[in-house]
Amino acid sequence: MSLNKHPDFLIIGAGIVGLTIALELKKQFTDSSITIIEKEERPGEHASGRNSGVLHAGFYYTADSLKAKLCRDGNLAWQEYCKERALTVNHCGKLVVARNEVELKGLDELYKRSQINSVELKKITAEEALEIEPNVYTFDRALWSPTTATVNPVEVIESVLKDIKEAGITLLNNTTYLRRVGGKIITSNGEFESAYVINAAGLYADKIAKDYGFSKDYKILPFKGIYLYANDQKEGMGLKLKTNIYPVPDLRNPFLGVHFTVTAENKTKIGPTAIPAFWRENYAGFEKFNMKEMIDILGIDASLLLANNFGFRKLAINEMMKYSKRKLVQLAGSLVREINQDGFVHWGKPGIRAQLINIKTKELEMDFKYEGDETSFHVLNAVSPAFTCAIPFSEYLVKKIKEKINS
Ligand SMILES: Cc1cc2nc3c(=O)[nH]c(=O)nc-3n(C[C@H](O)[C@H](O)[C@H](O)COP(=O)(O)OP(=O)(O)OC[C@H]3O[C@@H](n4cnc5c(N)ncnc54)[C@H](O)[C@@H]3O)c2cc1C
Repeated sequence: MSLNKHPDFLIIGAGIVGLTIALELKKQFTDSSITIIEKEERPGEHASGRNSGVLHAGFYYTADSLKAKLCRDGNLAWQEYCKERALTVNHCGKLVVARNEVELKGLDELYKRSQINSVELKKITAEEALEIEPNVYTFDRALWSPTTATVNPVEVIESVLKDIKEAGITLLNNTTYLRRVGGKIITSNGEFESAYVINAAGLYADKIAKDYGFSKDYKILPFKGIYLYANDQKEGMGLKLKTNIYPVPDLRNPFLGVHFTVTAENKTKIGPTAIPAFWRENYAGFEKFNMKEMIDILGIDASLLLANNFGFRKLAINEMMKYSKRKLVQLAGSLVREINQDGFVHWGKPGIRAQLINIKTKELEMDFKYEGDETSFHVLNAVSPAFTCAIPFSEYLVKKIKEKINS
Protein backbone atom coordinates (compact mmCIF):
# COMPACT_ATOMS: atom_id res chain seq x y z
CA MET A 1 0.00 0.00 0.00
CA SER A 2 1.42 3.41 -0.90
CA LEU A 3 2.13 5.90 1.85
CA ASN A 4 -0.45 8.66 2.29
CA LYS A 5 1.64 11.81 2.26
CA HIS A 6 -1.43 14.05 2.74
CA PRO A 7 -3.21 12.80 5.90
CA ASP A 8 -5.99 14.93 7.39
CA PHE A 9 -4.17 14.87 10.73
CA LEU A 10 -0.45 14.39 11.23
CA ILE A 11 0.68 13.70 14.79
CA ILE A 12 4.34 14.07 15.74
CA GLY A 13 5.35 11.68 18.56
CA ALA A 14 4.02 8.24 19.51
CA GLY A 15 4.20 8.54 23.27
CA ILE A 16 1.04 7.93 25.28
CA VAL A 17 -0.19 11.46 24.52
CA GLY A 18 0.22 11.23 20.73
CA LEU A 19 -1.31 7.75 20.66
CA THR A 20 -4.37 8.59 22.76
CA ILE A 21 -4.94 11.84 20.83
CA ALA A 22 -4.93 9.78 17.62
CA LEU A 23 -7.55 7.38 19.03
CA GLU A 24 -9.76 10.24 20.20
CA LEU A 25 -9.45 12.05 16.84
CA LYS A 26 -10.55 8.87 15.09
CA LYS A 27 -13.63 8.73 17.36
CA GLN A 28 -14.52 12.33 16.61
CA PHE A 29 -13.58 12.43 12.92
CA THR A 30 -14.40 8.87 11.84
CA ASP A 31 -13.69 9.35 8.14
CA SER A 32 -10.40 11.18 8.59
CA SER A 33 -6.96 9.84 7.74
CA ILE A 34 -4.51 10.04 10.64
CA THR A 35 -0.76 9.47 10.52
CA ILE A 36 1.55 9.41 13.54
CA ILE A 37 5.26 9.90 12.94
CA GLU A 38 7.71 8.60 15.53
CA LYS A 39 11.46 9.10 15.38
CA GLU A 40 12.36 5.90 17.23
CA GLU A 41 12.14 2.29 16.05
CA ARG A 42 9.07 1.81 18.21
CA PRO A 43 6.72 3.93 20.38
CA GLY A 44 7.21 4.37 24.10
CA GLU A 45 11.01 4.65 24.01
CA HIS A 46 10.93 7.85 26.08
CA ALA A 47 8.86 9.01 29.10
CA SER A 48 5.82 6.88 28.25
CA GLY A 49 7.77 3.64 28.44
CA ARG A 50 10.16 4.72 31.17
CA ASN A 51 7.90 5.97 33.93
CA SER A 52 6.89 4.55 37.32
CA GLY A 53 3.56 3.29 36.03
CA VAL A 54 1.75 4.87 38.96
CA LEU A 55 -1.89 5.69 38.31
CA HIS A 56 -1.98 8.74 40.52
CA ALA A 57 -5.16 9.48 42.47
CA GLY A 58 -5.21 13.27 41.96
CA PHE A 59 -4.70 14.88 45.37
CA TYR A 60 -1.42 16.74 44.74
CA TYR A 61 -2.77 19.40 42.41
CA THR A 62 -4.37 22.79 43.01
CA ALA A 63 -8.07 22.93 42.15
CA ASP A 64 -7.61 25.41 39.30
CA SER A 65 -5.29 23.07 37.40
CA LEU A 66 -5.96 20.74 34.49
CA LYS A 67 -4.04 18.08 36.41
CA ALA A 68 -6.66 18.25 39.18
CA LYS A 69 -9.52 18.08 36.66
CA LEU A 70 -8.15 15.09 34.78
CA CYS A 71 -6.19 12.91 37.19
CA ARG A 72 -9.04 11.22 39.08
CA ASP A 73 -10.87 10.42 35.82
CA GLY A 74 -7.65 9.28 34.17
CA ASN A 75 -6.95 6.87 37.03
CA LEU A 76 -10.45 5.41 36.69
CA ALA A 77 -10.25 5.25 32.89
CA TRP A 78 -6.97 3.24 32.87
CA GLN A 79 -8.23 0.93 35.62
CA GLU A 80 -11.28 0.14 33.49
CA TYR A 81 -9.21 -0.15 30.31
CA CYS A 82 -6.77 -2.56 31.97
CA LYS A 83 -9.62 -4.63 33.39
CA GLU A 84 -11.28 -4.95 29.98
CA ARG A 85 -8.01 -5.96 28.35
CA ALA A 86 -6.77 -8.14 31.24
CA LEU A 87 -3.63 -6.01 31.71
CA THR A 88 -1.72 -6.10 35.00
CA VAL A 89 -2.84 -3.63 37.67
CA ASN A 90 -1.45 -3.66 41.19
CA HIS A 91 -4.12 -2.14 43.43
CA CYS A 92 -1.53 -1.48 46.11
CA GLY A 93 -2.58 2.07 47.12
CA LYS A 94 -0.27 4.71 48.54
CA LEU A 95 0.79 6.00 51.95
CA VAL A 96 1.95 9.61 52.25
CA VAL A 97 3.97 9.99 55.42
CA ALA A 98 5.33 12.83 57.54
CA ARG A 99 8.90 12.57 58.73
CA ASN A 100 8.51 15.21 61.45
CA GLU A 101 6.03 17.59 63.02
CA VAL A 102 6.63 20.32 60.41
CA GLU A 103 5.55 17.97 57.60
CA LEU A 104 2.12 17.45 59.19
CA LYS A 105 1.11 20.79 57.65
CA GLY A 106 1.96 19.29 54.25
CA LEU A 107 -0.30 16.30 54.95
CA ASP A 108 -3.11 18.72 55.85
CA GLU A 109 -2.62 20.64 52.60
CA LEU A 110 -2.74 17.45 50.52
CA TYR A 111 -5.86 16.34 52.36
CA LYS A 112 -7.47 19.72 51.66
CA ARG A 113 -6.64 19.38 47.96
CA SER A 114 -8.10 15.85 47.86
CA GLN A 115 -11.40 17.15 49.23
CA ILE A 116 -11.59 19.98 46.69
CA ASN A 117 -10.65 17.62 43.85
CA SER A 118 -13.19 14.97 45.05
CA VAL A 119 -10.47 12.36 45.42
CA GLU A 120 -10.74 9.62 48.03
CA LEU A 121 -7.98 10.09 50.64
CA LYS A 122 -8.06 9.00 54.28
CA LYS A 123 -6.41 10.58 57.30
CA ILE A 124 -5.00 7.70 59.34
CA THR A 125 -2.98 7.27 62.53
CA ALA A 126 0.58 5.93 62.62
CA GLU A 127 -0.84 2.66 64.03
CA GLU A 128 -3.28 2.33 61.12
CA ALA A 129 -0.42 3.01 58.69
CA LEU A 130 1.50 0.12 60.27
CA GLU A 131 -1.43 -2.19 59.64
CA ILE A 132 -1.19 -1.32 55.93
CA GLU A 133 2.61 -1.58 55.76
CA PRO A 134 4.39 -2.96 58.86
CA ASN A 135 7.70 -1.29 57.91
CA VAL A 136 6.43 2.25 57.32
CA TYR A 137 7.63 5.15 59.45
CA THR A 138 5.46 8.19 59.92
CA PHE A 139 5.36 10.95 62.48
CA ASP A 140 2.04 10.76 64.30
CA ARG A 141 -0.23 10.27 61.27
CA ALA A 142 -0.34 9.64 57.53
CA LEU A 143 -2.58 9.75 54.48
CA TRP A 144 -3.89 6.64 52.75
CA SER A 145 -4.84 6.70 49.07
CA PRO A 146 -6.72 3.49 48.22
CA THR A 147 -7.18 4.34 44.52
CA THR A 148 -3.48 4.78 43.66
CA ALA A 149 -2.43 1.74 41.62
CA THR A 150 0.45 0.68 39.42
CA VAL A 151 0.50 -0.64 35.86
CA ASN A 152 3.27 -1.73 33.53
CA PRO A 153 3.53 1.26 31.16
CA VAL A 154 5.15 -0.83 28.41
CA GLU A 155 2.30 -3.34 28.54
CA VAL A 156 -0.23 -0.48 28.35
CA ILE A 157 1.54 1.05 25.33
CA GLU A 158 1.55 -2.35 23.58
CA SER A 159 -2.18 -2.62 24.10
CA VAL A 160 -2.83 0.94 22.88
CA LEU A 161 -0.79 0.13 19.76
CA LYS A 162 -3.22 -2.70 18.99
CA ASP A 163 -6.09 -0.18 19.27
CA ILE A 164 -4.24 2.16 16.90
CA LYS A 165 -3.89 -0.61 14.33
CA GLU A 166 -7.54 -1.66 14.69
CA ALA A 167 -8.68 1.96 14.26
CA GLY A 168 -6.86 2.16 10.91
CA ILE A 169 -4.43 4.84 12.09
CA THR A 170 -1.06 4.87 10.31
CA LEU A 171 2.01 4.73 12.53
CA LEU A 172 5.36 5.44 10.90
CA ASN A 173 8.34 4.56 13.08
CA ASN A 174 11.88 5.74 12.22
CA THR A 175 10.36 8.97 10.92
CA THR A 176 11.80 12.12 12.47
CA TYR A 177 10.19 15.52 12.07
CA LEU A 178 13.04 17.74 10.85
CA ARG A 179 11.50 21.10 9.99
CA ARG A 180 8.59 22.88 8.43
CA VAL A 181 8.81 24.66 5.10
CA GLY A 182 5.58 26.60 4.55
CA GLY A 183 2.83 23.98 4.54
CA LYS A 184 5.30 21.09 4.11
CA ILE A 185 6.54 18.90 6.94
CA ILE A 186 10.02 17.66 6.19
CA THR A 187 10.87 14.35 7.85
CA SER A 188 13.63 11.78 7.61
CA ASN A 189 11.10 9.70 5.65
CA GLY A 190 10.13 12.29 3.04
CA GLU A 191 7.76 15.25 2.90
CA PHE A 192 4.21 15.37 4.19
CA GLU A 193 1.40 17.87 3.94
CA SER A 194 -1.49 17.81 6.36
CA ALA A 195 -4.51 20.00 7.01
CA TYR A 196 -3.77 19.78 10.73
CA VAL A 197 -0.53 19.06 12.61
CA ILE A 198 -0.45 17.94 16.24
CA ASN A 199 2.84 18.11 18.09
CA ALA A 200 3.09 15.60 20.96
CA ALA A 201 6.87 15.26 20.77
CA GLY A 202 7.62 15.20 24.52
CA LEU A 203 11.20 16.35 25.08
CA TYR A 204 11.25 18.14 21.68
CA ALA A 205 7.74 19.64 21.75
CA ASP A 206 8.97 23.19 22.44
CA LYS A 207 11.40 23.15 19.48
CA ILE A 208 8.76 21.92 17.04
CA ALA A 209 6.24 24.44 18.42
CA LYS A 210 8.69 27.27 17.70
CA ASP A 211 8.70 26.30 13.99
CA TYR A 212 4.97 27.09 14.05
CA GLY A 213 5.36 30.36 15.97
CA PHE A 214 4.39 28.92 19.38
CA SER A 215 6.20 28.27 22.69
CA LYS A 216 7.65 31.79 22.59
CA ASP A 217 7.96 32.07 26.37
CA TYR A 218 8.89 28.46 27.03
CA LYS A 219 11.69 25.94 26.83
CA ILE A 220 11.85 22.34 27.91
CA LEU A 221 14.29 21.59 30.68
CA PRO A 222 15.07 17.87 31.07
CA PHE A 223 15.12 16.29 34.54
CA LYS A 224 16.36 12.73 34.91
CA GLY A 225 14.51 10.19 37.00
CA ILE A 226 16.63 7.24 38.12
CA TYR A 227 15.41 4.14 39.93
CA LEU A 228 17.12 1.75 42.31
CA TYR A 229 15.59 -1.73 42.66
CA ALA A 230 15.48 -3.79 45.83
CA ASN A 231 17.26 -7.12 45.63
CA ASP A 232 14.48 -9.68 45.69
CA GLN A 233 16.80 -12.60 44.89
CA LYS A 234 18.31 -13.02 48.34
CA GLU A 235 15.99 -13.59 51.33
CA GLY A 236 16.19 -10.78 53.90
CA MET A 237 18.44 -8.52 51.79
CA GLY A 238 16.06 -6.24 49.94
CA LEU A 239 12.81 -4.68 50.91
CA LYS A 240 9.41 -5.95 49.92
CA LEU A 241 6.76 -3.33 50.54
CA LYS A 242 3.02 -3.82 50.29
CA THR A 243 2.27 -0.28 49.14
CA ASN A 244 3.81 2.84 47.59
CA ILE A 245 5.30 5.15 50.24
CA TYR A 246 5.76 8.83 49.42
CA PRO A 247 6.95 11.76 51.56
CA VAL A 248 5.23 15.13 51.78
CA PRO A 249 6.56 16.86 48.64
CA ASP A 250 7.90 20.39 48.30
CA LEU A 251 4.81 21.88 46.67
CA ARG A 252 6.85 24.71 45.09
CA ASN A 253 8.03 22.28 42.40
CA PRO A 254 6.21 19.52 40.51
CA PHE A 255 8.38 16.64 41.76
CA LEU A 256 7.25 14.29 44.51
CA GLY A 257 10.48 13.64 46.45
CA VAL A 258 12.33 10.34 46.87
CA HIS A 259 9.78 7.58 47.38
CA PHE A 260 9.18 3.86 47.17
CA THR A 261 7.15 2.49 44.29
CA VAL A 262 5.71 -0.99 44.21
CA THR A 263 5.59 -1.97 40.54
CA ALA A 264 2.77 -3.77 38.74
CA GLU A 265 4.88 -6.94 39.14
CA ASN A 266 5.20 -6.35 42.91
CA LYS A 267 8.84 -5.28 42.91
CA THR A 268 9.96 -2.49 45.24
CA LYS A 269 12.04 0.36 43.85
CA ILE A 270 13.30 3.73 45.04
CA GLY A 271 12.88 6.76 42.80
CA PRO A 272 12.46 8.42 40.45
CA THR A 273 14.70 11.39 41.16
CA ALA A 274 14.50 14.74 39.35
CA ILE A 275 18.18 15.33 38.59
CA PRO A 276 18.88 18.20 36.14
CA ALA A 277 20.01 16.50 32.90
CA PHE A 278 22.62 18.06 30.59
CA TRP A 279 20.91 17.29 27.28
CA ARG A 280 17.41 16.16 26.42
CA GLU A 281 18.03 12.43 26.05
CA ASN A 282 20.88 12.27 28.58
CA TYR A 283 19.91 8.81 29.87
CA ALA A 284 23.33 7.33 30.53
CA GLY A 285 26.97 8.28 29.89
CA PHE A 286 27.45 10.19 26.64
CA GLU A 287 24.62 8.38 24.86
CA LYS A 288 22.82 10.80 22.49
CA PHE A 289 25.20 13.60 23.54
CA ASN A 290 24.24 16.94 22.04
CA MET A 291 26.65 19.84 22.59
CA LYS A 292 24.23 22.55 21.38
CA GLU A 293 21.54 21.32 23.78
CA MET A 294 24.04 21.12 26.64
CA ILE A 295 25.17 24.74 26.19
CA ASP A 296 21.57 25.90 26.03
CA ILE A 297 20.53 23.89 29.09
CA LEU A 298 23.54 24.97 31.16
CA GLY A 299 22.61 28.59 30.33
CA ILE A 300 19.04 28.06 31.61
CA ASP A 301 20.33 26.21 34.70
CA ALA A 302 22.68 29.13 35.46
CA SER A 303 19.84 31.66 35.23
CA LEU A 304 17.66 29.47 37.48
CA LEU A 305 20.47 29.14 40.02
CA LEU A 306 20.80 32.93 40.09
CA ALA A 307 17.06 33.60 40.37
CA ASN A 308 16.48 30.70 42.79
CA ASN A 309 12.72 31.28 42.45
CA PHE A 310 11.43 27.87 43.47
CA GLY A 311 14.41 26.81 45.57
CA PHE A 312 16.27 25.58 42.45
CA ARG A 313 19.71 25.87 44.11
CA LYS A 314 18.79 23.45 46.89
CA LEU A 315 16.86 21.21 44.50
CA ALA A 316 19.81 20.94 42.05
CA ILE A 317 22.37 20.18 44.77
CA ASN A 318 20.13 17.66 46.57
CA GLU A 319 19.17 15.92 43.34
CA MET A 320 22.78 15.61 42.09
CA MET A 321 23.66 13.75 45.31
CA LYS A 322 21.09 11.08 44.40
CA TYR A 323 23.48 9.59 41.82
CA SER A 324 24.97 7.91 44.92
CA LYS A 325 23.25 4.61 45.78
CA ARG A 326 24.14 5.12 49.43
CA LYS A 327 22.55 8.58 49.53
CA LEU A 328 19.42 7.46 47.71
CA VAL A 329 18.88 4.52 50.08
CA GLN A 330 19.57 6.77 53.06
CA LEU A 331 16.96 9.30 51.90
CA ALA A 332 14.34 6.65 51.21
CA GLY A 333 15.23 5.09 54.54
CA SER A 334 13.54 8.00 56.34
CA LEU A 335 10.17 6.63 55.13
CA VAL A 336 10.57 3.18 56.70
CA ARG A 337 11.62 1.65 60.00
CA GLU A 338 14.24 -0.70 58.64
CA ILE A 339 16.25 -0.73 55.47
CA ASN A 340 19.36 -2.64 54.46
CA GLN A 341 21.89 -0.43 52.62
CA ASP A 342 23.11 -3.46 50.66
CA GLY A 343 19.59 -4.53 49.79
CA PHE A 344 19.33 -2.18 46.82
CA VAL A 345 21.55 -3.32 44.05
CA HIS A 346 20.57 -2.53 40.53
CA TRP A 347 19.63 0.66 38.74
CA GLY A 348 16.46 0.54 36.64
CA LYS A 349 15.89 2.12 33.24
CA PRO A 350 15.98 5.92 33.78
CA GLY A 351 13.35 8.28 32.40
CA ILE A 352 13.58 11.97 31.54
CA ARG A 353 10.87 14.47 32.40
CA ALA A 354 10.16 17.07 29.70
CA GLN A 355 9.58 19.89 32.16
CA LEU A 356 8.55 23.24 30.71
CA ILE A 357 10.09 26.41 32.06
CA ASN A 358 8.83 29.92 31.51
CA ILE A 359 12.01 31.69 30.41
CA LYS A 360 10.59 35.12 31.30
CA THR A 361 9.49 34.39 34.87
CA LYS A 362 12.12 31.67 35.44
CA GLU A 363 9.46 29.45 36.99
CA LEU A 364 8.71 25.81 36.25
CA GLU A 365 5.27 25.39 34.70
CA MET A 366 3.22 23.38 37.18
CA ASP A 367 0.30 22.47 34.92
CA PHE A 368 -0.16 20.91 31.47
CA LYS A 369 0.19 23.51 28.71
CA TYR A 370 -0.93 23.62 25.10
CA GLU A 371 -0.96 26.21 22.34
CA GLY A 372 -2.34 26.15 18.81
CA ASP A 373 -4.39 27.67 16.02
CA GLU A 374 -6.52 26.54 13.07
CA THR A 375 -3.63 24.59 11.47
CA SER A 376 -1.47 23.26 14.31
CA PHE A 377 -1.65 22.28 17.99
CA HIS A 378 1.23 21.82 20.46
CA VAL A 379 1.19 19.84 23.71
CA LEU A 380 3.89 21.56 25.72
CA ASN A 381 4.10 20.34 29.28
CA ALA A 382 2.90 16.75 29.35
CA VAL A 383 4.71 15.99 32.59
CA SER A 384 3.58 13.65 35.37
CA PRO A 385 0.78 12.66 35.80
CA ALA A 386 0.16 12.89 32.03
CA PHE A 387 0.38 9.10 31.74
CA THR A 388 -2.42 8.73 34.30
CA CYS A 389 -4.43 11.54 32.70
CA ALA A 390 -3.85 10.46 29.06
CA ILE A 391 -7.39 9.27 28.24
CA PRO A 392 -9.39 12.28 29.52
CA PHE A 393 -6.49 14.61 28.65
CA SER A 394 -6.73 13.56 25.01
CA GLU A 395 -10.52 13.99 25.05
CA TYR A 396 -9.97 17.49 26.44
CA LEU A 397 -7.26 18.33 23.88
CA VAL A 398 -9.32 17.08 20.93
CA LYS A 399 -12.18 19.33 22.09
CA LYS A 400 -9.71 22.25 22.04
CA ILE A 401 -8.45 21.19 18.59
CA LYS A 402 -12.04 21.12 17.28
CA GLU A 403 -12.59 24.64 18.65
CA LYS A 404 -9.41 25.85 16.91
CA ILE A 405 -10.36 24.21 13.60
CA ASN A 406 -13.83 25.77 13.74
CA SER A 407 -12.65 29.22 14.84
C1 LIG B 1 10.91 9.11 35.44
C2 LIG B 1 9.48 9.40 35.15
C3 LIG B 1 8.48 8.86 35.95
C4 LIG B 1 7.14 9.14 35.70
N1 LIG B 1 6.18 8.53 36.46
C5 LIG B 1 4.89 8.72 36.14
C6 LIG B 1 3.88 8.02 36.82
O1 LIG B 1 4.16 7.18 37.67
N2 LIG B 1 2.59 8.28 36.51
C7 LIG B 1 2.24 9.19 35.55
O2 LIG B 1 1.05 9.41 35.34
N3 LIG B 1 3.18 9.86 34.87
C8 LIG B 1 4.50 9.62 35.12
N4 LIG B 1 5.46 10.25 34.41
C9 LIG B 1 5.07 11.18 33.35
C10 LIG B 1 4.68 10.46 32.06
O3 LIG B 1 5.57 9.44 31.75
C11 LIG B 1 4.66 11.48 30.95
O4 LIG B 1 3.86 12.55 31.36
C12 LIG B 1 4.09 10.92 29.65
O5 LIG B 1 4.70 9.71 29.33
C13 LIG B 1 4.30 11.93 28.53
O6 LIG B 1 3.92 11.33 27.34
P1 LIG B 1 4.24 12.00 25.96
O7 LIG B 1 3.56 11.21 24.92
O8 LIG B 1 3.93 13.46 26.03
O9 LIG B 1 5.84 11.96 25.84
P2 LIG B 1 6.85 10.82 25.34
O10 LIG B 1 6.55 9.52 25.91
O11 LIG B 1 8.21 11.39 25.56
O12 LIG B 1 6.58 10.73 23.79
C14 LIG B 1 7.02 11.69 22.87
C15 LIG B 1 7.42 10.95 21.61
O13 LIG B 1 7.78 11.90 20.62
C16 LIG B 1 8.85 11.37 19.87
N5 LIG B 1 9.55 12.47 19.21
C17 LIG B 1 10.29 13.46 19.77
N6 LIG B 1 10.81 14.26 18.84
C18 LIG B 1 10.37 13.78 17.63
C19 LIG B 1 10.58 14.19 16.28
N7 LIG B 1 11.35 15.24 15.98
N8 LIG B 1 10.00 13.46 15.30
C20 LIG B 1 9.22 12.36 15.58
N9 LIG B 1 9.01 11.94 16.85
C21 LIG B 1 9.57 12.64 17.87
C22 LIG B 1 9.69 10.67 20.91
O14 LIG B 1 10.58 9.71 20.34
C23 LIG B 1 8.64 10.06 21.82
O15 LIG B 1 8.32 8.73 21.47
C24 LIG B 1 6.81 10.00 34.64
C25 LIG B 1 7.81 10.53 33.82
C26 LIG B 1 9.13 10.22 34.06
C27 LIG B 1 10.18 10.76 33.16
